[in-house]
Amino acid sequence: MSLNFCILASGSSGNCSVIWDKKTTVLIDCGCSSKYVVENLNKLGLLPKNLTAAFITHAHTDHLSASGLGLLWKNNIPIYLHEDSYEDIYKKYGSKIEECVSIPFYKNVEIQNIFVESFDAYHKDANVSHTLGFTFSSTLNARKYKIGYLTDTGKICSAIIKKLINSNILVIESNYNTMMLDLSFRPYDNKKWTASSWGHLSNEDAADAICAIKQLSTSKDSLKYVFLAHI
Ligand SMILES: [Zn+2]
Repeated sequence: MSLNFCILASGSSGNCSVIWDKKTTVLIDCGCSSKYVVENLNKLGLLPKNLTAAFITHAHTDHLSASGLGLLWKNNIPIYLHEDSYEDIYKKYGSKIEECVSIPFYKNVEIQNIFVESFDAYHKDANVSHTLGFTFSSTLNARKYKIGYLTDTGKICSAIIKKLINSNILVIESNYNTMMLDLSFRPYDNKKWTASSWGHLSNEDAADAICAIKQLSTSKDSLKYVFLAHI
């Protein structure tokens, strides 16, 4: 028995990942169509009705879509999210979020045998007032597993590095090349926000963070797998 992890989608058109073991199946973000999520869960031998919980990083549509919210509601899946994200989603989808089992969540919670910790990321705009990153830890057959999950952050501080130390699997945003962003034809305001401390993480900053996490980790199995997200 082991802890399994799969990214179903990553990028501006949708983000969704799944962590599962024999007892528990946890979804992280649900920013794709319901059809896409169901099809890709099925490919892994998983069923939406068997999801134990969903954790939502923030309210941008590519992390929680209307269709994704509908899927969680239809299958009665508890949604763990920051209370500010609940407000953001309420503004966007109205009573739809009220119909779901929503659990305002901050700091940590145990979902069966998976211990989930949250931490603050740096990602805000007019539609998003709070963004979380997560770590998922589990002990199976006397072996410890830790997955660090951080997409959508404008910068990384020492508190975030500390949270991600000793992750066996690390998912970290690596959003843009600074020069390419600068030379792109995107609107000026979008470029300015993307490169700001509340926008997205540059490839250079992601690389620095990965090196710092590796250097400070004591486990020989740290950063065995690193996924660059939201490219
Ligand atoms: Zn975002």
